[in-house]
Amino acid sequence: MTSSSQPQYPVVSGWIQLNDHTYVRSSAEWGANTGLVVGSEKALVIDTGGGPRQAKELADAVRAITDLPITVANTHAHFDHVFGNAYFRNHLGVVDIWAHHSVVKDLLETGLLQRKFVRGVEPEMELAEGLDTELDFPNRLLEEAPVDLDLGGVTVTFFYLGKAHTRGDMLVGVDGILFAGDIVEEGGHPSFEDSYPHDWQRVLGKIIAIDELYPVVIPGHGQPVDMDFVRMQFHKLRQGIRVSEAAIHEASADYTKAIPVLPYGPLQSRHLIQRLKKSATRATED
Ligand SMILES: [Zn+2]
Repeated sequence: MTSSSQPQYPVVSGWIQLNDHTYVRSSAEWGANTGLVVGSEKALVIDTGGGPRQAKELADAVRAITDLPITVANTHAHFDHVFGNAYFRNHLGVVDIWAHHSVVKDLLETGLLQRKFVRGVEPEMELAEGLDTELDFPNRLLEEAPVDLDLGGVTVTFFYLGKAHTRGDMLVGVDGILFAGDIVEEGGHPSFEDSYPHDWQRVLGKIIAIDELYPVVIPGHGQPVDMDFVRMQFHKLRQGIRVSEAAIHEASADYTKAIPVLPYGPLQSRHLIQRLKKSATRATED
């Protein structure tokens, strides 16, 4: 899956070290990636895990690398990326949590429903019982313009390229490395449940267009990849949309017949078709 041109990175305290100040690690349960960028004055943690158990493991791993004050960024409003926020606030003294502005609204709307997805991994979080299980919302919100955050000798850039995997996917760039959240997915199929497929394809195109800025891409799940991988995902999505729409537009056909010929698993294919049908019935996507 990953390109053979990717370098072999050293592993430090369980983190894959991408350069002298940037790290990533994957959760054992979902392969969800958390990033760590360390400046001379503060450090940034990108995505906090699916509840207090994962967040504690992540926080301990962060403290094995740095004692600096921590700022948090959430790539989007899905449980496996945001449910550890409360632990980070309560135990690491985090003040600022950055995310796209729609994340707060999405968490207010779907946060309770999303608790069921952590079943078997974060039992306290599922039941909202115990410490650090409250939903903790981002308080620093990205609007349309990119935001640079100076960590001391290292600057990270938060930016938004449009709706994609969700309506609020925030990208985080630092020194040739792009944390793409679930816009890019390695080792498993992309997830379309809350997606905007046409917009997602456009966003992948925009990422490819800045390939010289970011030769290394960290997916929301799985191993680091390069831009060839993103190009492959772009073409796959284009094919997936074409096949799905052809099936939808054959008025008498059962569109579910398209599922076996789509380049994704049955569940993801079903969600892709559902989202395309939904967007076709809307004058404008919300
Ligand atoms: Zn997601």
